[in-house]
Amino acid sequence: DLHKHFPIGTKGLLGKPARWLHAVDGVSFSLERGETLGLVGESGCGKSTTARAIIGLYPPTSGSVKFEGQEISHLTRSERAPFRRRIQMIFQDPYASLDPRQTVASILAEPLKIHRLAKPRERKLRAMQLLDAVGLNPRHIHRFPHEFSGGQRQRIGVARALSLEPDLIICDEPVSALDVSIQAQVVNLLEELQERFGLSYLFIAHDLAVVRHICDRVAVMYLGKVVEIAERDELFGNPQHPYTKALMSAVPHPDPRVERTRERIVLEGDVPSPLDPPSGCRFHPRCIERHKVAGDLCSTVEPQLDTRSACHLTATATAAASI
Ligand code: SF4
Ligand code: MG
Repeated sequence: DLHKHFPIGTKGLLGKPARWLHAVDGVSFSLERGETLGLVGESGCGKSTTARAIIGLYPPTSGSVKFEGQEISHLTRSERAPFRRRIQMIFQDPYASLDPRQTVASILAEPLKIHRLAKPRERKLRAMQLLDAVGLNPRHIHRFPHEFSGGQRQRIGVARALSLEPDLIICDEPVSALDVSIQAQVVNLLEELQERFGLSYLFIAHDLAVVRHICDRVAVMYLGKVVEIAERDELFGNPQHPYTKALMSAVPHPDPRVERTRERIVLEGDVPSPLDPPSGCRFHPRCIERHKVAGDLCSTVEPQLDTRSACHLTATATAAASI
């Protein structure tokens, strides 16, 4: 039930926040060892904020983050150290996330140095092994980031995330800044490393084709909430929530014959502001299935996420089926 609200502006003499931005507003999911869970949704829906709260960059406003059953969201810096090693992050932009003044050797050795894990000599050896693991030439450790291509730089980002031998890697749009021709290579590398090191991934993306390829399960977010969570094939083949259906309808089908007959669901209007989320179901101002629900339930009562989807429509269907 993770919440992260950010204060916006101030009012009064005491400088109280004028408003609150509800970036993440009651998100719950679990992630198993060795699993890849996709987190999808339009920009601003709270995917990155969720990731940052998990890794400890943002303390949650309320709710909790548990790692192997232990609460980790309210730990002090030193208490958090052992978990920091085990949860790492790969960022979207390999250009911005690597220090241009450091050689690859020092970029890869830095996490080991901070966590006092190896002597200088061993650190260099380890940096070479990491480069090899991500498919780069270990002899290039004395080069600087600008001497590598975009795809190679993201490989360095991956190597850095691996240096502390983590269990969980949060991948925040890891391939969206790369050329399409390079994306598949990096995705394949992530899959190969998962197999080899038994990694779990929380994979944040808005490219649904990539998510379909790599994820075991997928959670769909809308305005700070998870609206649907399901096994990959279930979600893509049989989406339940009206928002998921709209998202899926925008993904082109590889077979042109199917593609020609497919119906696109075009959502009206923009995503409402998280400063002032709509009442009831947050999706109600844009939902084309709302008329199927009796009365004003959709605009007054917030649907809860049952095992699968947060919608009065699916809740009714589930209740009817169980009678
Ligand atoms: Fe649409 Fe109502 Fe379901 Fe919300 S609860 S997604 S408005 S049908
Ligand atoms: Mg983001």
